[in-house]
Amino acid sequence: MLSKSKYCNGIECVKKLWLEKYYPEVMSDLNNDSVFENGVTVGNIAKELLGKSFEVKFDSNLDNMVKDTLALLSFKNIIITEASFKYDDNFCSVDILKKDNEEYEMYEVKSSTSVKDIYIDDVSYQYYVLSNLGLNVKKCFVVYINSKYVRKGDLELNKLFITKDITDEVLEKQDEVKSNINFLNKYLIDEKEPEIDIGMQCFVPYDCPFFNYCTQFLKKPNVFDLRRMTKKKKLKYYYDNIYTYNELLKEDIDDKFKQQIEFELYDKEEYINKEEVKKFLDTLTEPLYFLDFETFQQAVPKYDGISPYMQIPFQYSLHYYENGLKHKEFLAIAGVDPRRELAENLVKDIPMDTCVLAYNMSFEKTVIKNLASLFPDLSAHLLNIYSNIKDLMIPFYNRSYYVKEMKGSYSIKYVLPALFPNEADLDYHNLDMIHNGSEAMNSFTNMENLSKEEQEMLRKNLLKYCELDTYAMVKIYEKLKEVVK
Ligand code: SF4
Repeated sequence: MLSKSKYCNGIECVKKLWLEKYYPEVMSDLNNDSVFENGVTVGNIAKELLGKSFEVKFDSNLDNMVKDTLALLSFKNIIITEASFKYDDNFCSVDILKKDNEEYEMYEVKSSTSVKDIYIDDVSYQYYVLSNLGLNVKKCFVVYINSKYVRKGDLELNKLFITKDITDEVLEKQDEVKSNINFLNKYLIDEKEPEIDIGMQCFVPYDCPFFNYCTQFLKKPNVFDLRRMTKKKKLKYYYDNIYTYNELLKEDIDDKFKQQIEFELYDKEEYINKEEVKKFLDTLTEPLYFLDFETFQQAVPKYDGISPYMQIPFQYSLHYYENGLKHKEFLAIAGVDPRRELAENLVKDIPMDTCVLAYNMSFEKTVIKNLASLFPDLSAHLLNIYSNIKDLMIPFYNRSYYVKEMKGSYSIKYVLPALFPNEADLDYHNLDMIHNGSEAMNSFTNMENLSKEEQEMLRKNLLKYCELDTYAMVKIYEKLKEVVK
């Protein structure tokens, strides 16, 4: 049986639909937990968008959901969430269905901040099911997040959400839906894997979790391992049958790609442009501070002054030199707005006119700028910190210092193990519970639901993780100083 998500997956790539059915174990984990959680939160909040609604509860026996829906549809006027229908082996649950006498309106709720083409297909499939069951659907809407909304006081659903009428597009697609359903069902009953080549559908609108499986026949490393090359360009080389590193080297490719390929292919020694590294080091002044934030994002802002998906800092780590290496840190209490306390601690911990190093500083700078505009009494100090931030990433971004293990990346998660391959205390894999920024974010946002003991354990591990981020920066800085001696 098809559902709306299967239909959408299938029209993006029929092989994806087939693999989900016959071979789900080869799917990679793309770490989309926070996307999923935001989707659930948005869906729950949107239920009251049109007023009081009645929900059809999830039941693994979908026929029960259809029956519950039918019972609710006996009312003349009603708003139902998750109203469920089945037509000719096609099932769908409508996010919000409004019944007004014998006329219906369908609302599809999305947690994104724009309308993607695939949403039109999603609603078109739902319209196909409902209209074939004889329901008179007059209007179809996509409800999505208004990124410009700033919360002030109570949540204003009519400002948080944008409702877009897509009825015309949905009607236009009805013939296409019918032929798509026939086409997809044909593949679903066939046990032979569809022969579909990789293409833009593997990346747009979402990265496909079967990409590693579908490219397993390609000799490694290959064009898809190159960093900073557009997907479009990679596919072009692939279609031209030029995808191994040896073949790519014969092409007129950008120096940065050539460098990555040559280093890996010929096992080259590290490259250091001492003059450039020294030039960077000369821009820094002592005493040096090393700063790193952890942040979370909310599709539905919980606190005043927050827009959807704004980065909200909840933790920082700070290493600095003062008669040797010292460390300070801050980690907010779960479940409360962390920003004021964090900003107050930050201005206490970082003196004015101090050189602060961050890795990929645009992130830290944006967080500090937002804090400065939120707290005018702290803004002079915060903006002073802001203007004194320097980026430790520069020598790696510019490739003044390059080691083959960086694999074309300048991210600290590649640079650190490349520079310190055998140092266990710099290896994120050796940490407990939290190994990367998304794990830190997801754990912190769920922390308030944990027991006291679990919270304590998590806090300990969050602190260790963030401390490693700035300790890693210290080690990288010291390495830069060492290599230019
Ligand atoms: S990786 Fe590409 S070709 Fe393979 S299933 Fe996904 S979208 Fe289809």
